Amino acid sequence: MCGIFAVIGAENAAAELYVGLVHLQHRGQDAAGMITFDFSEPDSGIKISKDIGLVSNVFNDTKLLNVNGQMGIGHTRYPTVGVGDVKEVQPFFNRYPDGIGLAFNGNVVNYPVLKEKLRQRRVYLSSSSDAEVLLEVFGDSYGKDARDGVDAVYAAVRKVYDEAIGGYSVVVVIANKGIVAFKDPNGIRPLIMGEKKAKGKKSYAFASESIALSIQGYENLRDIKPGEAVYVDKDLKVHSKVLEAGKPAPCVFEYVYFSTVESVYEGRPIYEVRKRLGEELAAKVKKHWPDLDVDVVIPVPDTSRAAANSLAKALGVPYEEGLIKNRYIGRTFIMPVQKIRENAMKLKLKPIDSVIRGKSIMVVDDSIVRGTTSRRIVELLRESGAKKVYFLSTFPPIRNPCYYGIDFQRKEELIAHGKTIDEVEKEIGADRLIYMDVEGLQKAVGTEKLCTACVTGEYPTTTEHAKELTSLRRKHIAQITSKC
Ligand code: SF4
Repeated sequence: MCGIFAVIGAENAAAELYVGLVHLQHRGQDAAGMITFDFSEPDSGIKISKDIGLVSNVFNDTKLLNVNGQMGIGHTRYPTVGVGDVKEVQPFFNRYPDGIGLAFNGNVVNYPVLKEKLRQRRVYLSSSSDAEVLLEVFGDSYGKDARDGVDAVYAAVRKVYDEAIGGYSVVVVIANKGIVAFKDPNGIRPLIMGEKKAKGKKSYAFASESIALSIQGYENLRDIKPGEAVYVDKDLKVHSKVLEAGKPAPCVFEYVYFSTVESVYEGRPIYEVRKRLGEELAAKVKKHWPDLDVDVVIPVPDTSRAAANSLAKALGVPYEEGLIKNRYIGRTFIMPVQKIRENAMKLKLKPIDSVIRGKSIMVVDDSIVRGTTSRRIVELLRESGAKKVYFLSTFPPIRNPCYYGIDFQRKEELIAHGKTIDEVEKEIGADRLIYMDVEGLQKAVGTEKLCTACVTGEYPTTTEHAKELTSLRRKHIAQITSKC
């Protein structure tokens, strides 16, 4: 996952990056960083600060945010490659050519292959991050291009498309030149552009989610198109071109889980989509299980709240808050290893006995990935005296790995992989398990032009090198686990 933010033309780029990253914190809790550039000091205007930790911890010193600078890029990390080391914290920066910084959200599927190619060319890589490889590919082409400005930028983005397979949204800062933002040819990961006019001045920003822009007064939001590169130069002139248009396949999981409910993705408000997910599930329940004795519908906070509410309304059943989330524990799904996730789960949810005791509970969650959370929730509800527990997922069974920036790259960690719904139901201990289906999901989102590979196994890119990526991830997870 990860969150990225970029800005140019701001009075204080660091302050806008900070606010943007705070509003993207839910996309990655592991590390944060930013690079800013001050046009009034072209020879020494680059400032880099990054570290392990939440955005508010990494930038807890106001001196870091009071640096002069009108453009910059920032990143919040959710690791899908690497060992969680400080050397892997983005943005990455190369002094040659010109001084280029890069941050991205996603995964490069053929990362191990590209890394090896660079090694053979005797390029020194200082980390296990695919961001560093993307920076090398971009910078190599940009540095060799005799042209300046937008043509050199387009050539460098084209080079990335030629070399890197995967799902990636990228922001690049080129010292004293401008900001580049681009999406992979299938547009798998989100990237949105905004424009602000304040005190007669214009600025542009790019973010993984619309909320990070709108909260700072950015308007005219539009999603960057699949295979499109946008370059905003130092004079704030916007250049854009679709360089390689593949079949659009935006990640459907953004609607269901990742994006925050206040955001708008591809023109669709996430909140409205989640409400429709609840209605679709209700229609399925009415059709296949009309006699289910449900006393109360409760959500698993916070992501599934809108869906649970609309489902309860559609079924004509009371909606209550039966589980309370400990606000000091982060999103357990995006924690890097299973051991940490399991420990966090014990601290995360607390039941309200008066809502649960003696009742048949319909509990709604956004999805079931590894089953850790679902199993614990069923246990908690039973311990609190639930008569029956019906578990509903607004996402269909996840049976295939994701190679595009979500950390389930290994089949063996997916609870539904190789299992029937009845078998998963038994494993999580529910009296009934009801999943959304692909048709209902597409109907709720309002389009079929989506990546649903983790459900259907139909990947929008070649997965030729996925095996190497998966075995590298296994190695890294073992290294992280041994340190825990
Ligand atoms: S495989 Fe699933 S999680 Fe990954 S990009 Fe596609 S829809 Fe999203």
